[in-house]
Amino acid sequence: MVRAIVGANWGDEGKGKITDMLAKESDIIIRYQGGSNAGHTIINNYGKFALHLLPSGVFYHHTTSVIGNGVALNIPFLVKEIEDLVSKGVPKPDILVSDRAQILMPYHILFDQYEEERLGKKSFGSTKSGIAPFYSDKYAKIGFQVSELFDEESLKEKVDRVCETKNVLMEHLYHKPAMDPQELFETLLEYREMVKPYVCDVSKYLHEAIKAGKNILLEGQLGSLKDPDHGIYPMVTSSSTLAAYGAIGAGIPPYEIKNITTVVKAYSSAVGAGAFVSELFGDEADELRRRGGDGGEYGATTGRPRRMGWFDAVASRYGCRIQGSTEVALTVLDVLGYLDELQVCVGYEIDGKVTRDFPTTVELNRAKPVYKSLPGWKCEIRGIKNYEDLPENCRNYIEFIEKEIETPISMVSNGPGRDEIIFRK
Ligand code: GDP
Repeated sequence: MVRAIVGANWGDEGKGKITDMLAKESDIIIRYQGGSNAGHTIINNYGKFALHLLPSGVFYHHTTSVIGNGVALNIPFLVKEIEDLVSKGVPKPDILVSDRAQILMPYHILFDQYEEERLGKKSFGSTKSGIAPFYSDKYAKIGFQVSELFDEESLKEKVDRVCETKNVLMEHLYHKPAMDPQELFETLLEYREMVKPYVCDVSKYLHEAIKAGKNILLEGQLGSLKDPDHGIYPMVTSSSTLAAYGAIGAGIPPYEIKNITTVVKAYSSAVGAGAFVSELFGDEADELRRRGGDGGEYGATTGRPRRMGWFDAVASRYGCRIQGSTEVALTVLDVLGYLDELQVCVGYEIDGKVTRDFPTTVELNRAKPVYKSLPGWKCEIRGIKNYEDLPENCRNYIEFIEKEIETPISMVSNGPGRDEIIFRK
């Protein structure tokens, strides 16, 4: 059975925790898109970890962790992430890297930084991990597949050719030193040695695993609203964040994805620029940020403070629909226990008209929130194991959200730990 775990919003919904938890019953966990630009925070018996490139199943002995062809593969970063785990006492995980994954090159990171500098105030708020230049090159067909590292002659020729065009930008657009093709070639040979132990025909491996009835998890990064097609373009990421893309980024048939568990956070947060209709500001935002997540809502990769807001039912319903969600895990509900009253954004007012449909970016930029207010529950809900034991106002909040997002909420997460979860029948 293949199950996808994806986000309905702007990312940071707590997918890492849900994946880590569900990995217990899984054989294979796959990253199929994105790169080291986002992070999943996981708290378990080994300690607290921020994973960026590895799937959140690396802590179990029985699982295989797969980096699919759809990922932006930063090879030194991957190696460092593995070393970090091992140095903190985690047994060395079983890792496979697709021979069709493309390599995030050192110049992708440089171009990401230089372009954000050049754009100044108009920048995208990139994490500067090289993701946008990486995917641009992939589709411009000047990217490097892992498999290409093993053919030195063509590799050298391609490095020379790519440096020629890249150096025009380097010198004339960004006024930076040109790259030395020989140096880059040697770096790639080092990358080859680093990645060699993990390289695998992942699609074939998964084909056989599916035939053998293995339990497979696809772990998404970011959320629906950051999808380049269906999100808040252009303030999106550069690879699809949807469960559907799991089929492509891992190399499996789309009809094998039977369960799409969409992670939805009990309030909103976002990083980077872009419209955020239910955003909070000032003290209200600061308080929620300070109490949010586990130890505050700050980016796992950059440490940047996240933008905070009320639960946005318009965005979340759309986010769930576009994922094709079969069920929802509602997370970080415990954080909201301090509020007397909670607002839920149930509509967008655009040019005097109220809509429940999530609009394109042009209209989204003019949208104002329409709120429905619900009473708070004013107590700590951590430690509660049964749904019926949650305070009534808390259950009302969950059930109100469930109705709004039109998807069954099967799990409620009431703490960052692996076991802090309430299953609903
Ligand atoms: P991801 O990118 O979707 O995996 O999300 P992140 O890991 O960046 O953000 C989720 C944050 O919330 C992390 O700090 C988690 O430890 C924390 N978290 C996840 N679920 C819960 C929960 O139910 N309650 C609390 N308090 N924190 C949670």
